[in-house]
Amino acid sequence: MPKRVLILGSTGSVGEQAIAVAQSTDELDVVGLSAATSWERLAEQADALGVGSVALSDPASAARAASALGAETTVDAGEDGVRELIARTSPDLVLNAIVGSAGLGPTVATLSAGIDLALANKESLVVGGELVTMLAEATGARILPVDSEHSALAQLIDGEGPGAVERLVLTASGGPFRGRDDLSGVSVSDALDHPTWAMGGRITIDSATLMNKGFEVIEAHHLFRTPFERIDVVVHPQSLIHALIDLCDGATLAHLGVPDMRTPIAWAMHHPDRAALGIERLDLSATRRLDFEPPDVERFPCLALARRAGIEGGTAPCVLNAADEVAVEAFLDGRIEFTRIPELVEAALEEIAPQPVTHFSELFEIDARARDAVRGRIDAGAVAR
Ligand code: MG
Repeated sequence: MPKRVLILGSTGSVGEQAIAVAQSTDELDVVGLSAATSWERLAEQADALGVGSVALSDPASAARAASALGAETTVDAGEDGVRELIARTSPDLVLNAIVGSAGLGPTVATLSAGIDLALANKESLVVGGELVTMLAEATGARILPVDSEHSALAQLIDGEGPGAVERLVLTASGGPFRGRDDLSGVSVSDALDHPTWAMGGRITIDSATLMNKGFEVIEAHHLFRTPFERIDVVVHPQSLIHALIDLCDGATLAHLGVPDMRTPIAWAMHHPDRAALGIERLDLSATRRLDFEPPDVERFPCLALARRAGIEGGTAPCVLNAADEVAVEAFLDGRIEFTRIPELVEAALEEIAPQPVTHFSELFEIDARARDAVRGRIDAGAVAR
């Protein structure tokens, strides 16, 4: 019997690649798709895969998809659309590739139903890590990371007994501005030009500021229940080593491979099996060298801001993410300079004091409050320093 998979955020970069992985095998059966507004692409995907259930969070886009797809396809709309889609299709696995904190609700819906979650939406863990991991534990659902570094860590840690792993090390490409002295005046297209990974707009900007790596430290803290002081970041421009673990006996294990998101996507979708993907092999004789350097936290303050928010815990990582989402959007729209992204995030963290979180509704409230605060600052054109 093939594994029945629901792909959320199917029209984004990870979603498209997840569909390609599913189409390359008889072992995965896509039973549903969702998107925010891209109804034309979603309809094409549903046709190509013969999928009878889809959801669009934007009601107007859902109405268009419904008339394009006809009566055989069920189209759920709005905020609750994904929840209805999960209930209707009752999949074996949900792949959550939604971008941003909008992915938190679908993560909660999946884990609440006891369904295994292939998680590409890192905000679910950045924003709601404490509650999300408790929920998974309570229902017995597994969280399988799709983020390449965490996929690597999950594979490395899998073979080790309790107490054996002393330290987790995430690698970072350093983004397009590694080693660059002056970051004022960098353009949107410079920032979107990632050296090794082809990804969506938000995550590419987050890679350029190193905020993405900061999010990944928080993600690793929750996924692997590891204190922040035992999670390190090393810059490795070739992106061929994805993560390392230090073991108690002095051994260090590394996970290597060409940077291709289909590998971690397939690992999560096929888990616990492995599938042949026909991906380019790593050839170290041709590569010849692997470089490493410490991250430059002076020039890229987002990494330190994220670590600070992670250690503070409670609502702080939610504020971090919401502020970053709004600031990155404003940068992509040409409304603020690149260097204002960390300034706006820091100002939001200063303004909204961290509080403990006991319910997901508190996170949605804080998320909205942080967004308003950052929008206010952008509109006012002033940043507290
Ligand atoms: Mg990553």
